[in-house]
Amino acid sequence: MVFPGLPARVAEIRQRMEEAVARGGHGQRVRLIAVTKGYGADAVRAAWDADIHDVGENRVQEAIDKMAGAVAPVRWHLIGHLQRNKVRLAERFAMVHSVDSARLADALNAAAVASARVLEVLLEVNVSGEAAKFGWAPHEIRAEGDRLTSLPGLRVRGAMTMAPLGASEAVLRTTFGGARAAAQVLREAGHPATELSMGMSGDYAIAVEEGATMVRIGTAIFAG
Ligand SMILES: *Cc1c(COP(=O)(O)O)cnc(C)c1O
Repeated sequence: MVFPGLPARVAEIRQRMEEAVARGGHGQRVRLIAVTKGYGADAVRAAWDADIHDVGENRVQEAIDKMAGAVAPVRWHLIGHLQRNKVRLAERFAMVHSVDSARLADALNAAAVASARVLEVLLEVNVSGEAAKFGWAPHEIRAEGDRLTSLPGLRVRGAMTMAPLGASEAVLRTTFGGARAAAQVLREAGHPATELSMGMSGDYAIAVEEGATMVRIGTAIFAG
């Protein structure tokens, strides 16, 4: 599969990201993560050729299969819900964005400790409070952040969130601002939580205005 027009779409996304950083005033650097789920290893190659060095996958097995066929040395990010019986595969990823429960955090920690590694993770925050979403409510982050300081296998690098589908600009700003506040709480607990993973094809400009340091974009890169 080829991706006609991909370089031009990526250039436009980078331009819009840059403008959003300027408007938002947070002055952050933003990493563009190409979400390759549903596509083959050729999408990884196409992203790499467009100078994107990070790819995101929401299913572990799909990612592992793709890693085997990928010819570019990208960093792999796990962005979807992880079942606890698959935690030993987490070490294949540069970062797990979707740590969404205390039990999963504990299981990831145990797996990392067992293989003498430290796993880079983000805590998924369910700012919008949707029942179908995974993650902690914002008010739970302080206690969980304190608790996680005792887990040597995890390095808590920040927060991740997803806005409700089709949300208004006001709701997007509340959601992304809530994740930013959660990362601040994690820093207060002593974690190196400088990362904010938020923003997808439909809402990344506002996410970047609100301080995103990583955006996860699939459709706008690969489908145009
Ligand atoms: C699919 C997915 C994305 C990318 O969504 P697009 O709308 O295609 O950009 C981002 N984050 C997560 C968690 C996803 O599952």
